Amino acid sequence: MVRKIGELYLCEECELLYKDLSWAEKCEAWCKENISCNLEITKHSVKT
Ligand SMILES: [Zn+2]
Repeated sequence: MVRKIGELYLCEECELLYKDLSWAEKCEAWCKENISCNLEITKHSVKT
């Protein structure tokens, strides 16, 4: 599940944070189907 944390959205599958809900949902969908990360999606994540 994508979780909202303050202003950010967390992909609970890989624990990356996104400013944009749509990217967090794309990430989660990818993470559930694939073991590896998708750089095209993760590059939109927020660096912590
Ligand atoms: Zn993810």
